[in-house]
Amino acid sequence: AKKHKVTVVGSGNWGSTISKIVAENTREHPDLFEETVQMWVYEEEVTIPAKSAHHDASDPDKKHKLTELINTLHENVKYLPGIDLPPNVVANPSLQDAVRDSSILVFNLPHQFIANVCKQLKGHILPFARGISCIKGVNVTDDGVSLFSEWIGDGLGIYCGALSGANIASEIAAEKWSETTIAYDPPPMDNSRNPTPRSRSPVNPGFDLSITAADGAAVHRDARGRASKTRLTPVPPEYPPLDHDTFSQLFHRPYFHVSMVSDVAGVSLGGALKNIVALAAGFVDGRGWGDNAKAAIMRVGLMEMVKFGKEFFGETVETGTFTEESAGVADLITSCSGGRNFRCAKMAVERGVSVEEVERTELNGQMLQGTSTAREVNSFLKARGKEREYPLFTAVIGILDGKYEVDDIPSLVAKSAHVS
Ligand code: NAD
Ligand code: 13P
Repeated sequence: AKKHKVTVVGSGNWGSTISKIVAENTREHPDLFEETVQMWVYEEEVTIPAKSAHHDASDPDKKHKLTELINTLHENVKYLPGIDLPPNVVANPSLQDAVRDSSILVFNLPHQFIANVCKQLKGHILPFARGISCIKGVNVTDDGVSLFSEWIGDGLGIYCGALSGANIASEIAAEKWSETTIAYDPPPMDNSRNPTPRSRSPVNPGFDLSITAADGAAVHRDARGRASKTRLTPVPPEYPPLDHDTFSQLFHRPYFHVSMVSDVAGVSLGGALKNIVALAAGFVDGRGWGDNAKAAIMRVGLMEMVKFGKEFFGETVETGTFTEESAGVADLITSCSGGRNFRCAKMAVERGVSVEEVERTELNGQMLQGTSTAREVNSFLKARGKEREYPLFTAVIGILDGKYEVDDIPSLVAKSAHVS
């Protein structure tokens, strides 16, 4: 029997943490997975910071290739300093080489870069590979809004699920307990040896999420019920099935508890939209308004997240994903407490500078997702004349653009009470 080879595409703060988790599990499940986990690294020259155990005070400015450091020190000194990576994580600067022969592709990089990465991957992956997107963001084009899981799947001709939750990477890298949600709901063909978890829409149970094309290939409806462009190649029978059990074995750790669900749209939207809310939480905290104001932001933010999901992904999205799963309310809370979007927005208000300026000076190359998501979601809502129906999302872009002040938030969101 064959085993699945795993590649993590991305190696930032979260990408490196997920590589650690996955590599611990490939070692523990040699029946399912090849031990070595490839991690694609966007190559750069770096110095070893003082917080790394490998810092050399006699030559602090010496430059090294990041991949070489990871493969010799087993530490990502730039994006996850101070954390030991398992030696079976292999850093690879070549994207195409990193994905060669891999049947599981874990996408974990800032959403700004995924288009370029997918372009380079096209034609270089196994046709029966399956993906999991850990990316928190949405893809807005002239056609509308789509999820990165859908977009990766359609672009590469594979099925792609989503992983998202209350998952501040540094805490998980230190093996402090957290939960996550993985949504995976391919057409039934992949689960012929294990019954499919569900191929019915949770919202409209009469609505079949799977379709058989004229050529007999299984295709899939996307998160809005349209036939996906993807013609899926089945996972060959000599491989372990790629189902909920297998993905749970790949990601679940004693300190990282996985809940498997089927609502890919709800999980993806939760992770993307909470970043806009976290900026608002940072704005009011930076203004010194305290916990009540922050809780109000979270309340209104959660309402707008659910409304957005229902309005634009109504065939498949479940309210329960937002209110009951780690990918919903729990991620919202942790992100509004200690996430980077929250912290940078707070510092921006305290210092009287832009959020982008704080991102540049404080994050050492890490990237915020909330500012671009706020802009992308706003352009989507504006094009549909719906800005006023999402007053918090609209307030955030207005503050980022200097059109509104933080002090305008209470009156702007008060109007939401009158929106049904
Ligand atoms: P990061 O912000 O820590 O790092 C930035 C990454 O971008 C680095 O790996 C860098 O090498 C890479 N990069 C820079 N320029 C690039 C280019 N031109 N092309 C490709 N890559 C380039 O990244 P992260 O925290 O791992 O974030 C990845 C995703 O994970 C994001 O969508 C984020 O929302 C999500 N996420 C992050 C956390 C967290 O706590 N960090 C937790 C959950 C989810
Ligand atoms: P930030 O990108 O704001 O740090 O959020 C991290 C996160 O997604 C926690 O779940």
